[in-house]
Amino acid sequence: SRRISARVGGIAESATLAVDSKAKALKAAGRPVVGFGAGEPDFPTPDYIVEAAVEACRVPANHRYTPAGGLPELKKAIAEKTLRDTGYAVEPAQVLVTNGGKQAIYEAFATLLDPGDEVILPAPYWTTYPEAIRLAGGVPVEVLADETQDYKVTVDQLEEARTDRTKVLLFNSPSNPTGAVYDRAETEAIGRWALDNDLWVLTDEIYEHLTYDGAEAPSLPVVVPELADTCVVVNGVAKTYAMTGWRVGWVIAPQDVVKAATNLQSHATSNVTNVAQRAAIAAVSGDLAAVGTMKEAFDRRRRTIVSMLNEIDGVVCPEPKGAFYAFPSVKGLLGRTFDGVTPTTSAELAELMLDKAEVAAVPGEAFGAPGYLRFSYALGDEDLVEGITRLQKLFA
Ligand code: PLP
Repeated sequence: SRRISARVGGIAESATLAVDSKAKALKAAGRPVVGFGAGEPDFPTPDYIVEAAVEACRVPANHRYTPAGGLPELKKAIAEKTLRDTGYAVEPAQVLVTNGGKQAIYEAFATLLDPGDEVILPAPYWTTYPEAIRLAGGVPVEVLADETQDYKVTVDQLEEARTDRTKVLLFNSPSNPTGAVYDRAETEAIGRWALDNDLWVLTDEIYEHLTYDGAEAPSLPVVVPELADTCVVVNGVAKTYAMTGWRVGWVIAPQDVVKAATNLQSHATSNVTNVAQRAAIAAVSGDLAAVGTMKEAFDRRRRTIVSMLNEIDGVVCPEPKGAFYAFPSVKGLLGRTFDGVTPTTSAELAELMLDKAEVAAVPGEAFGAPGYLRFSYALGDEDLVEGITRLQKLFA
């Protein structure tokens, strides 16, 4: 018999975290690595949120368990924030507070899927989705949208992938890894298609506030209100409030789904850290000034990285409209020789970049899209320019 179960043994290491840890290890060894790997804002959590947590720490009652599904005050604040930011009216009983958006995604799929149920997964996709689907017994069905369609799937493509086992559509706008943002008409068309075909939609809105050039990312159940009964929204404080390490996210879903997912969480992890939930109350009930400031910096870096990448012969980088990632095609670099090495895949190219230029980016293989690289531009402006300049020299 095998030591590790097939179910868990089949899970791949998170490629994004792997690249980041390799880059950090090289950095710790004194090498001047520029890291485009990590998907986290380089800003500190705003002071008023930190202060709320510090104060909460001093109150002994906050050292105790909370209800497994989250503090009632936080659920209420999340419901209010959701209405304020997207126009989606929900009850606190439709909210489950989770250990980051990641746990929200795992629990949502575990709650919705039976073995063999298919999930339509637009690719390039965030690396965690297929693992969460498979662990829940589901089958990810990939639908690829490349740079010629701005990395956005069409209803025709979705319809082609649909079978009588399809239960859920995954929707993520703004997208990690491509930065693509579906506009209102595109969102509505996809939502109507899901509704007409009795599908559930899991919509991951974690980058909702990071859009550029006036792009808007409307919330799917607001654009198609009839979807509310078969829609699961995932969100969290990580990206909007620079709170990746605090581990607070949530699920918004119909009450029966939230109740079942809460039962699961009550046995798996119980409540999210009490004081982190109190920090999250301060975050979601405060204003959006801090994310506005971050967005200005991200927008500036976005313009810089896109134009610098496109100056490299063999690289094609469409302009991302959201999140903080650039996702160029590097197919034009494959098969060519740089510094004595001839990469034939984007994974080999990423290795070459790290070895020869000490620049870390995540290969498209991690996102179901070989031939591409993901660059997070959530790093300092100077580092960004230094890193891409090194690549321009390497690939000259
Ligand atoms: N969804 C997407 C698309 C993400 O990129 C991330 C983080 O990288 C998450 C969800 C989950 O974030 P967290 O678990 O830190 O809240």
